[in-house]
Amino acid sequence: MTVQPSLKIYNTLSGKKEEFKPITPGYVGMYVCGPTVYSDVHLGNCRTFCSFDMIYRYLLHIGFKVRYVRNITDVGHLTDDGEDRMAKGAKVAQLEPMEVAQRYTVGFHDMMRIFNTLPPSIEPRATGHIPEQIELVQQILDNGLAYERNGSVYFDVPKFATRQPGVYGSISGRILDDLYAETRELKSQEEKNHPADFAIWMKARPQDIMVWNSPWSVGFPGWHLECSAMSTKYLGKTFDIHGGGNDLKFPHHENEVAQNHGACSCHPANYWLHTNMLLLNGKKMSKSDGNTITPTELFTGTSDHTSKAYSPMAVRFFMLMAHYRSTLDITDEALMAAEKGFLKIMETNRLLQALPVNARDFDGSETDTDRAILGLVDDAFDGMNDDFNTAIAIASLNEIGSYVHKLTNKQIDPADVSPWVIERLKTVFNAFLFDIFGLQDESASGADSGTVDGLMQLILDIRGHARAQKDFATSDKIRDALTEVGITVKDGKEGVTWSK
Ligand code: AMP
Ligand code: ZN
Repeated sequence: MTVQPSLKIYNTLSGKKEEFKPITPGYVGMYVCGPTVYSDVHLGNCRTFCSFDMIYRYLLHIGFKVRYVRNITDVGHLTDDGEDRMAKGAKVAQLEPMEVAQRYTVGFHDMMRIFNTLPPSIEPRATGHIPEQIELVQQILDNGLAYERNGSVYFDVPKFATRQPGVYGSISGRILDDLYAETRELKSQEEKNHPADFAIWMKARPQDIMVWNSPWSVGFPGWHLECSAMSTKYLGKTFDIHGGGNDLKFPHHENEVAQNHGACSCHPANYWLHTNMLLLNGKKMSKSDGNTITPTELFTGTSDHTSKAYSPMAVRFFMLMAHYRSTLDITDEALMAAEKGFLKIMETNRLLQALPVNARDFDGSETDTDRAILGLVDDAFDGMNDDFNTAIAIASLNEIGSYVHKLTNKQIDPADVSPWVIERLKTVFNAFLFDIFGLQDESASGADSGTVDGLMQLILDIRGHARAQKDFATSDKIRDALTEVGITVKDGKEGVTWSK
């Protein structure tokens, strides 16, 4: 079995960095709260999902087998006015709620592919797990930690706080009295015993359109319930890592923990990881406040906040340049710097991979330069092992980069670096850039479009030849086949042209 390095993770629960010890050695169960699919994802959402993608990739890289579960919220996430976000989105667009969910789930997946994130192992939907959620409500009721009122079921927070002192508030770090005072009511305030209680099952009102039968009423589950039900189903009652953005600490994660305790008296996850927010104009990027940039706006240069277009990988690199627990302000200057940094590190890698490796057996000897370079490789991994600090890892790789440039232009004598060190550097750079950071060499895709141009020229030459032979059957067949794959061929005065 692979021996994993010592990895420290900042655990929101303890407020400290802790040595990562999974429940089963070598295996990690990780649950990340996914998007609410009622509109397009914004860049802030993408930052959180790209951060967990980097964490997932690093865990895989250091040899863990990971079951990564990331849900799709397609019911129960209410707006401040108490309306279901999905149902509201459906009404606005005059669509079925499931059409809304489908449209934005596809859009979310497309965006995740553009950012080159790996798909999770399981992507459960809230609406696909209503029986599991009903069962959970029943368990909490059976354990005396919830009560029914007019067809809705509420979690009894004060009772839970008395039974399990110190648990409610442990994620958000807030004092229970403050939480009680702050809790704003969405619906049926008067039905609850206490303002801090929250609905785990809601009786439908006439205007609600996403509803299911339950022992208590025709209604729908509370938003927090889905994550308790689905994480338990796919990862067990207690698993390793639970993640999400900082803004989910309260009430979402606080209530999730309460529900799991309420159902089975167990704590759902051992390590709680929270990513920090992407800011725009110094404020959290947010759909509801209209303070957003969509990724497409950034890629096409149509955002009012930026002067030009930025490629997906430049944006991904921009996100990696900050530690996931730091806030990150999106500005034109910062994006330009990230773009420059991204192009530079990719160029360094191209130079590195082209460096010749002199055939010399590894004799165990190390030069001073070898030791300096290997020290930087250790720094890069130490950075990652210190709570996934990509900023430190990038800084170390850039320092290695200056050795690579000096080796390329012979400012350093190639004999000063042992061949096995060059080999190691080649492997380490490829591993960091492509496996861990999840970057793609966009200039390579540029080469791909050159290949397409060449192939198109070849096809059009063959078609031209057929036409010259008056073999119209073949030339039409080629044109029709191209039309089928979305390519239009035009025979004009200036010759044959094609477009997509
Ligand atoms: P939502 O679709 O609103 O449930 O959000 C999906 C994920 O994106 C959650 O983990 C949020 O915490 C996260 N998120 C929302 N806004 C931001 C932001 N401005 N920066 C980083 N993450 C965010
Ligand atoms: Zn969740």
